[in-house]
Amino acid sequence: MKILVCVKIIQGEINPFDASALECALTLSEDVTILSMGAEHTKETVSALTRLGAKAILITDKLYAGSDTLATANVLAAAIKKLPFDLILCGRQSIDGSTAQVGVMLSQMIGCSLLTGALSVTAEKDAVTVRTREGQVRSALPALITMEKEYRLRFPSIFSRTQEVILWDNTVLGCSPDHCGLRGSATRVLQTFESERGKRNCQFVSMDNLFPLIEQLKKEMKRTGRVWEEKEQSSQRLPCVWAVGEDVFPYAKAIADQVVRIPKEPVEKILQRAAAEKPEVILWNSDAWGRINASIAAAALQTGLCADCTQLETDGRKLYIYRPALGGRVTAKIECLTRPQMATVRTKSDSADIIVAGGRGAASEIDKLQDFAKKIGAQLAASRGLVDMDQMPYSAQIGLTGKTVSPKIYIAVGISGAVQHVCAIEGAQSIIAVNPDPNAPIFDYADYGIIEKF
Ligand SMILES: Cc1cc2nc3c(=O)[nH]c(=O)nc-3n(C[C@H](O)[C@H](O)[C@H](O)COP(=O)(O)OP(=O)(O)OC[C@H]3O[C@@H](n4cnc5c(N)ncnc54)[C@H](O)[C@@H]3O)c2cc1C
Repeated sequence: MKILVCVKIIQGEINPFDASALECALTLSEDVTILSMGAEHTKETVSALTRLGAKAILITDKLYAGSDTLATANVLAAAIKKLPFDLILCGRQSIDGSTAQVGVMLSQMIGCSLLTGALSVTAEKDAVTVRTREGQVRSALPALITMEKEYRLRFPSIFSRTQEVILWDNTVLGCSPDHCGLRGSATRVLQTFESERGKRNCQFVSMDNLFPLIEQLKKEMKRTGRVWEEKEQSSQRLPCVWAVGEDVFPYAKAIADQVVRIPKEPVEKILQRAAAEKPEVILWNSDAWGRINASIAAAALQTGLCADCTQLETDGRKLYIYRPALGGRVTAKIECLTRPQMATVRTKSDSADIIVAGGRGAASEIDKLQDFAKKIGAQLAASRGLVDMDQMPYSAQIGLTGKTVSPKIYIAVGISGAVQHVCAIEGAQSIIAVNPDPNAPIFDYADYGIIEKF
C-alpha cells in the first residue's frame, strides 16, 4: 500500500499530530513517503525522519512563503496529484496554527474520501477501517485520514541511514502565483495588538478562604440566576450573512440586517445554494462539524476561511475577524480577500454551573484536583497544557481550540492564562485563579486570586 504522510516541521521538530500519522503509516506499510512543505532549512529535520524507513519530498520555493491554509492545501494538492498513492495521512492539526483545515481541504481538492479524528487505523487490500472517539468507520481506498496524537513515533535504529530528500520547487509543481504563497492567500492579517478584553479586577485571598469563597459565590448565583449575555449589536451592519447552524445565528444577527438560516445539511447542498445565491459572508459554528464542513466549502469555493474567531466586526461592507495570535500574547485582526468571506466562530457550549479547570501546573495533582471538583460539585476541565501532557482528554479542553464556556463559577488551577485559554471563559460569572506565580496573566482575568501552590 502506497502511503503519503503530510508533515509540517515547526521550530525544528515534527508537528506531534503528524508524528502520530507517520508512525501509523509505518505500522501499515513499507512504502511510505513523507511530503513536507516548508523552508529549505527544514530539510535537515525531514532528512532525519527518513532514517525510519520513509522516502521524503520537501516542497520548497520562495513563492510559497506566507501561504495561508488554502494556499498550503493548493500546493500540497498539486504535489499529491503527481504521486501514486492509496492512502494519505495528515495530522488533525498543526500545533502552531491549530486550524485543522489543511487535511480536510486536501481531501476536497484531491477528490478522495475523508475520515477525520482517527485514533487508530487498520488496512485491508482496498479499504481502511478507522477507530475514532465516536466509533468505527470503514472506507474504500483511496482515502485521506486526519490523525489524532495516539501513535508514538518510533526511534530510528542505530544501523539506519538517512535517504536523500527530494526537493520540489514550483518549476516541478507549476502552481499559479494566484493560488499559493502570500499572493495566493485568501486571508490577510491586517493588524495585531494587545487586547484588554476579558480583563477583570482581581481581589487576592488566601487558600484558607477558598471553600468559604466558593460557598458565598454559590449563594450569590442562586440569587442572581443565570445571566445570558446578549450579543452587542454592531452599529455598522452587513446587508446579509448566512449562518450555518443555530448556534452561530446570534453572532450573525449582531452584525447583519438579514441573516439567512442555513441548516446543518450535507455540505454539497450548501455549496450548490452558495453557487446559485453567491452570499457575501458565511459563518459556521466552530464545532467539529462546522470546522470540517467549512474547510471543505473553502476548498471547493477557493475562498478564505478564518478559524476559531472570538469576535466579529464590520464596516458595513467587509467582515473583520479577531482571534488570538502569536502564542496568545496578541489579538490579530484578519480579513478575507475572496468571496464569500468565511469564518468559524467560537460559540458558547452548554456548561456546568461550576467548572474546575486544571493546567500544566496541576499535572502532578490530578487526583487532588478530581477530589476537589467532586467535593464542590464541579465539572472537571483542562487547559491545552494539561491535555497536551495526555493527562486529560481533548473533550475536556477549554479554549480557542477547545470549548467556550460560561459557568457561574470557573476555578483555574495551575493555568498561566494564555489568551487562547482565557478567550473561552469570558462569559463566566466569577473566576477564581490558583497559581503560585504572582505575575501569571491569569490573575488579570480573574475576580479572585490565590497566590499559592495547589
Ligand atoms: C493556535 C493555538 C491554539 C491554542 N488553543 C488553546 C486552547 O484551546 N486552550 C488552551 O488552554 N490553550 C490553548 N493554546 C495554548 C496556550 O497558548 C497555552 O500554551 C496553554 O493554555 C498553557 O497551558 P497551561 O496554562 O496549563 O500551562 P502553562 O502555561 O505551562 O502554565 C502552568 C501554570 O501553572 C502554575 N503552577 C505551577 N505549579 C503549580 C501548582 N503547584 N499549583 C498551581 N499552579 C501551579 C505555573 O505558575 C504556570 O503559570 C493554544 C495555542 C495556540 C498557538
